Amino acid sequence: MPKYEGLIFRPPSEADSLILQVEIGCSNNTCTFCYSYKDKKLRIRSLEEIESDLRETLPYAKRVRKVFLADGDALVIKTDKLLKILNLLYKYYPNLWRVGIYATALNVLHKTDDELRKLKDAGLGIIYLGIESGDDVILRRVKKNMTSAQMVEACKRILKIGFELSITIILGLGGKNRWRENAIETARVINEINAPTYIGALTLMIPRGTPLFEEYIAGEFEPLTDLEILKEMRLLIDQIDITNKSIFRSNHASNYLPLGGTLPDDKEKLLEVIDNVIKNPIGKLRPEYYRRL
Ligand code: SF4
Repeated sequence: MPKYEGLIFRPPSEADSLILQVEIGCSNNTCTFCYSYKDKKLRIRSLEEIESDLRETLPYAKRVRKVFLADGDALVIKTDKLLKILNLLYKYYPNLWRVGIYATALNVLHKTDDELRKLKDAGLGIIYLGIESGDDVILRRVKKNMTSAQMVEACKRILKIGFELSITIILGLGGKNRWRENAIETARVINEINAPTYIGALTLMIPRGTPLFEEYIAGEFEPLTDLEILKEMRLLIDQIDITNKSIFRSNHASNYLPLGGTLPDDKEKLLEVIDNVIKNPIGKLRPEYYRRL
């Protein structure tokens, strides 16, 4: 097994992937709702450390088909080094068909098209990017350090180069006083990207130890109820108006209602499901105590 430092996070769709920790922590690490890497000091692992991990996996190397590069924004790593890592991966794993990575919009914008193309050609296949919200007021409040315009630009470049793009958005991130803006502005960003390959909706959780938890305790942040979250999700889906296809999912364990479909084709079906659950929610929503990050 590779060696891991601290808690490891990966997208739900990388459940069957080998997780390789090439970065420790997250270069941003300021988001008020995120506790994932707060206890880690940013460090990029050396090629020697990474290769020693790969040697550990040799007994089952032929079974590795997907690799996910952690931690929080491994695309921050310099392109030359990432290319060396990708070359090593395809050398060690003869049946490897996809490598995925977490990135922030800034990581993408700090690379040239030529660098991104080289990474694509070297076998990086999918980029997971946390947009969180399309509303700039919310992005500022949660200290994301990026604007919605930067999110759109980064996502459009990812798609132009030919990567798959999986974005995450957070329902409820605006709390009670910006739920409408969270839905409408996030839909606007998705429409401008036209369209992410995958849209993953999470529902806000407020872990202890985060700055957002402090705001919540101080009464400065009022979270939405389960039904209000559904209303926000309904408005978001209703406002999405894309011509290219995008797979929408709310199957993450933080959500009250797991949904899945392809937009724009399944838009009416998704709205109908939400409407029916809003009308009769009993027994249809994930209980609070089953929700997870
Ligand atoms: S949400 Fe993403 S960018 Fe923000 S601190 Fe967490 S991992 Fe880093």
